[in-house]
Amino acid sequence: MRTVAEQVPPAGPAVRHSRRTPVSQTSSLTDEVGSTAVDRTGEQAIAGAPQPSTDLSDAAAQRRVAAAQAPLRLMAVHAHPDDESSKGAATLAKYADDGVGVVVVSCTGGERGDILNPRFDQAGIDIPALRLTEMAAAAEILGVAHEWLGFEDSGYHEGDPATWDLPAGCFGALDPAVETEALVRLVRHYRPQVMTTYDENGGYPHPDHIRCHVVSMAAFEAAGDPSAFPDAGEPWQPSKLYYNVGFSKKRMLAINEAVKEATGEGPFDEWLERFAKNDRPDPSARMTTQVPVADFFAARDAALRAHATQIDPDSHWFAVPREVEARVWGTDDYELARALVEAPLPETDLFAGIRP
Ligand SMILES: [Zn+2]
Repeated sequence: MRTVAEQVPPAGPAVRHSRRTPVSQTSSLTDEVGSTAVDRTGEQAIAGAPQPSTDLSDAAAQRRVAAAQAPLRLMAVHAHPDDESSKGAATLAKYADDGVGVVVVSCTGGERGDILNPRFDQAGIDIPALRLTEMAAAAEILGVAHEWLGFEDSGYHEGDPATWDLPAGCFGALDPAVETEALVRLVRHYRPQVMTTYDENGGYPHPDHIRCHVVSMAAFEAAGDPSAFPDAGEPWQPSKLYYNVGFSKKRMLAINEAVKEATGEGPFDEWLERFAKNDRPDPSARMTTQVPVADFFAARDAALRAHATQIDPDSHWFAVPREVEARVWGTDDYELARALVEAPLPETDLFAGIRP
């Protein structure tokens, strides 16, 4: 059996979601997954990070109302619950803290995600239900509104997309127009000036990530067009759309070298080796925008830990001293993919050219 490290494309070192592997076959995963249980209520949460309140639903409803009414609004479209916490999460926390209305849209419920924490590797646990509460906790920690687009996880599929045998009715198999209309409805409701999504490769070759890109691009184009989806609300044209530039080689190398200098251990040595073998272009080459977010690393990490079924709490990702990360790479990075406003590049603010 191949190791997990070989199966996982160089996307996120912390979250390896939505590979449709039966639990009984995941014994190799437990080799990587530490035995430390994560208490979502905050037992191991990072000092200084905001904690979930006890009544998530009232607060969540209030955040949805507030996000739609804020003068500046940001919509982050993601494939699965947990993607918002592993890609640009500190940015979401930062803008929410600044009073921007931030809404995360999860295209699917993540129903086909693997269980990557041994604490949950047992019968009788309702994983889809748990993922809902995990997502609610993460949204609370980040201080953002959250919406489910309402589609079903396609599961992870390896190899050539032409060979993928997707489950009937899943997000990756449905007519994209149906999904686009659902997203257009949310865009017209929240009226974001800025949207984020993944690049044309999905940032990671998962059918739901690729479809997330397709649907986000289509919704960006259609939401302002009165002739498109006339039953989905009043037209609204967002001004900018970005791709998340997550795990660029440049960034991983910089962090790895700095940690190695401090501790003698390179937490991303293996990742960098795999990246080198993979012969993929470095996503940092397309970066246009770097948002300083180091003050929100604690919120980002706490949100990621809230997805307790999906994360390896002993992941190398959490082994990076945050002061080192803040010093060598204290930004979340983006590629500006569409802009209907003028702003010089490179930028440090997703709302450059939009702020009054
Ligand atoms: Zn995902």
